[in-house]
Amino acid sequence: MLTKDSKSEISADQPVIEIRDLHKSYGDLEVLKGVSMTAPRGHVTSLIGSSGSGKSTLLRCANLLEDSQRGEILFNGEPILWKGDGPHRRPADRKQVTRIRTNLSMVFQQFNLWAHMTILENVMEAPVTVLGRDRKEVEEKARIYLDKVGIGDKCDVYPAQMSGGQQQRAAIARALCMEPQALLFDEPTSALDPELEQEVIKVIKALAEEGRTMIIVTHDMRMASDISDHVVFLHKGLIEEEGHPSELFGKPKSERLKQFLSATV
Ligand code: ADP
Ligand code: MG
Repeated sequence: MLTKDSKSEISADQPVIEIRDLHKSYGDLEVLKGVSMTAPRGHVTSLIGSSGSGKSTLLRCANLLEDSQRGEILFNGEPILWKGDGPHRRPADRKQVTRIRTNLSMVFQQFNLWAHMTILENVMEAPVTVLGRDRKEVEEKARIYLDKVGIGDKCDVYPAQMSGGQQQRAAIARALCMEPQALLFDEPTSALDPELEQEVIKVIKALAEEGRTMIIVTHDMRMASDISDHVVFLHKGLIEEEGHPSELFGKPKSERLKQFLSATV
């Protein structure tokens, strides 16, 4: 979603994130073996694959929460600057990392809310302390986003007093309150009971309809099929197949994808 101000010079067909031939190892374990993907502006990209295929790692590399050893990551066409090589490669410019990371908000499987803060305080925390925004303005926005995800009445409640579905919606409001250029979801519904899963899916669907840029790691093939513009199937650190959901789910080509889909239905 583009707003006025500094973001207005970015053209609509410039992907928010572009990853080229990314390699990532943990010690001797090569987890990403040359992965290229983009998060086109205003589109939903879903990432599917078996447990251990590297989905979370890819998301964390995109967000610069993890280092990678080879390949490029671009944010609005701007390449991440690196220093060092291979296992010693690190981002060269901390300010660039902070700027990019604050523009890519993550939503995790386990919500990761602060237990000692109310829901309103949780949502306000990063915009106030990380971005240095005015408390009063942030509070207004936080209340709007909490309303948007359907828990505007929970501002003064602590996370432990809410259901998992409500906590995850609070985590989504917190991500939105950073007003990021893209939202990255890592299995946002995996920790939830089926009936609570639906209330979170509804919120994610509404965000997709608004044209927000999102990458969603999910085991929920139905949601991926419903809301994605593009689906990427990762297998053992490589993209095995990708395409429009109608093609990927309707006419899978690779045997591995066929197997994966038949095992998950
Ligand atoms: P997925 O999200 O697709 O289930 P992950 O990206 O979490 O897969 O993990 C991919 C592989 O990397 C797995 O073999 C996992 O054990 C390994 N891995 C993930 N995180 C770490 C880490 N911090 N240290 C060592 N190995 C890791
Ligand atoms: Mg994972």
